[in-house]
Amino acid sequence: MQIENPYAPVEELKVPLFENKGIQLFIKREDLSHPFISGNKWRKLKYHLIEARKNNKTELVTFGGAYSNHLLATAAAGAKYHFKTTGFVRGEEIINPVLQLCDWFGMRLIFVSRSDYKEKTNLYHLHFGADPNAYFIDEGGAGENGEAGVRELLDDLPESFDIIACSVGTGCTFKALVEGVLSKQWPTQVYGISILKGVYALENLVQHIPQNYWQLFHQFHEGGYAKTSPELLAFIKLFASQTGVLLDQVYEGKMMLALHKLVADNHFKPGSRILALHNGGLSGMLSLLQ
Ligand SMILES: *Cc1c(COP(=O)(O)O)cnc(C)c1O
Repeated sequence: MQIENPYAPVEELKVPLFENKGIQLFIKREDLSHPFISGNKWRKLKYHLIEARKNNKTELVTFGGAYSNHLLATAAAGAKYHFKTTGFVRGEEIINPVLQLCDWFGMRLIFVSRSDYKEKTNLYHLHFGADPNAYFIDEGGAGENGEAGVRELLDDLPESFDIIACSVGTGCTFKALVEGVLSKQWPTQVYGISILKGVYALENLVQHIPQNYWQLFHQFHEGGYAKTSPELLAFIKLFASQTGVLLDQVYEGKMMLALHKLVADNHFKPGSRILALHNGGLSGMLSLLQ
């Protein structure tokens, strides 16, 4: 199994607001790596795929909500690299465009109640405990393997930036980036934009790392996970029309809107070079079409 490095170039964007303030905006197009195994979901799966193959596992078993980018990425990656896949889906049995795509990539879907879903290892042991061919991947690809894959994206960067910004869900990506920047000793601060409301425990993930390497923002969630606002949707449309880059409304739209608000508030010094990570997730936009 050959796992090639994803295509994820850095592009400079010309956005009037940033140009007026003398700030350079770059974007790392992790969204271009694959239509469905995109962004950090691909990065987080890489070492799981390698480990599963090394241990002669033939089936990937993982977890997600009904619009999970991770479930879809696992389904598509499983098909590409010849693993069977099973996804435990949180909540009552439904069908939507994302789950339909998972099904097309051959994933078996098992719907479980919200309370059962909370006990992921129990679920796994109940269904796969005796199956030597099954390989457990935590929700979102979190954990040491996931972080190792994310850290690698820093090796692609042609130069260092003052700020690297990412959206934050579980925080796995953010933590990996902060640790990666620390180990490279770059003069870079990682900005994490939480897309969830009031998850202050995220700070614990990076508490062991000096504050000059990171900053977390909790005021840009636009109402909470998967919530949108008219302002956010209007922003996504404006940004797409100005740059040709489409951002999803669950993660990257909120991250980029946050950067715009910070620039408008003169948060950054003129001359700053900001790199925004686009972690894909455009399949999340299918929920807007429902
Ligand atoms: C999953 C996801 C994130 C969040 O990543 P975490 O590592 O859970 O914080 C951000 N952006 C996109 C597009 C995602 O799919």
